[in-house]
Amino acid sequence: MDFDDTPEETAWRGRVRRFLEENTDDVVRGRDRHTDAAGAAPRQRWQATLYDAGYVGITWPVEYGGRGGTPMQQVIVNQELSRAGSAPLVNGIGLGMCGPTIIAHGTEEQKQRYLRPMLRGDDIWCQLFSEPAAGSDLAGLQTRAIRDGDGWLIRGQKVWTSAAQYSRLGLLIARTDPSLPKHAGLTMFLIDMEQPGVTVRPLRQMTGDAHFNEVFFDDARVPAENLIGEVDGGWRVAITTLMNERLAIGGGGADMGVSVETLTRFAAKRLGALPADEQALVREKLGRAHVLAMAQRYTGYRRLTALSQGRMPGPEASVGKLSLVTLGQLTAEIGMSLLGDDAAFGADAGGDDRWQYSMAMWPGLAIAGGTNEILRNIVGERVLGLPGEPRPDKGVPAAAPTGVRA
Ligand SMILES: Cc1cc2nc3c(=O)[nH]c(=O)nc-3n(C[C@H](O)[C@H](O)[C@H](O)COP(=O)(O)OP(=O)(O)OC[C@H]3O[C@@H](n4cnc5c(N)ncnc54)[C@H](O)[C@@H]3O)c2cc1C
Repeated sequence: MDFDDTPEETAWRGRVRRFLEENTDDVVRGRDRHTDAAGAAPRQRWQATLYDAGYVGITWPVEYGGRGGTPMQQVIVNQELSRAGSAPLVNGIGLGMCGPTIIAHGTEEQKQRYLRPMLRGDDIWCQLFSEPAAGSDLAGLQTRAIRDGDGWLIRGQKVWTSAAQYSRLGLLIARTDPSLPKHAGLTMFLIDMEQPGVTVRPLRQMTGDAHFNEVFFDDARVPAENLIGEVDGGWRVAITTLMNERLAIGGGGADMGVSVETLTRFAAKRLGALPADEQALVREKLGRAHVLAMAQRYTGYRRLTALSQGRMPGPEASVGKLSLVTLGQLTAEIGMSLLGDDAAFGADAGGDDRWQYSMAMWPGLAIAGGTNEILRNIVGERVLGLPGEPRPDKGVPAAAPTGVRA
């Protein structure tokens, strides 16, 4: 792969950069700390500004509000947004997961109706997959969709649902037939989050933010036209969402303010203040972080090569997410070591708390979108060809006791 921009890419990058420089006052910076619709509003306006200028949904089809551009153009936009210090786009879950799922499995009417407002950030979406007893073992989920005339009634509970407190719509997977084996009786729907029968309760994380929620469904309604894919065919649809989720998380984009470059500049200032033996330890870890960052970058290029040749990246999406998280955790750890005793203060002392925040945030990302252990299983089985895990519940009806959590 040639790592330099082509003349067309150079021109595109120049255009994006100029736009961001001319609109620098509108760039929403900082972290995603809001917990309600009012807090999300400035990021919603920023996404609309970017969309109206043609910088959101670069690879999405033109007929659904996208730009019909190339994956490289999208990567360049991501890089320039990061360079400009932009916060993540408010509808990241819509753009990264729900949209690609609707493009792959939705009806023409769903695509016409939902994709453009999703791109512009007018409708914010959430992903209603995980439950109290179904995360890694997602197919063990128990939320029911019960036939009611043409449509369905939804009964059950989801948890860890990011952005649900200000989402208008959600992508929901529920069990339609408990007599079938657990992967077979599931169906995917899109659901109106603002209707009676949907209760959203924010959950506070150790960062101090309430980024995710528990969501209760008490006979919430889903009309027939909100079915995505086939009845009892939801697992195939979910695989599309999960693959895109790993790509979205592992693919980078927004500036989290804690890159290895930032860390190195910070180390240049702070390292000398540490005791000599600690300096040696930090230097060694810093070296390791640089190696990981290069591995992350080149694995990313491999993913890009697949995308630019029109192929869907395979298990390298899992490797990308795994290495991003490993690097993020190491970077945060080094930042904290460099802070020394000051690590105990940060924002409370009026200082910059990015390393403390990052230290508290990365463990969550090691879980979201597939835990490190699950991703290692995928790499072991699908990349290295090691024997698969035992699956005692294979082929057993979801409702039957299996001896494993279901
Ligand atoms: C910040 C954050 C945001 C999230 N946002 C969303 C969201 O928007 N929508 C949504 O649906 N979900 C969301 N989730 C939930 C996330 O997808 C689940 O937490 C994740 O899939 C793990 O499921 P679990 O929490 O039930 O843990 P479990 O699956 O119970 O796992 C517990 C532990 O056991 C390990 N383990 C489990 N199975 C195996 C195995 N087969 N082999 C080896 N180890 C194993 C896991 O790695 C983990 O360490 C979010 C989570 C976080 C942390």
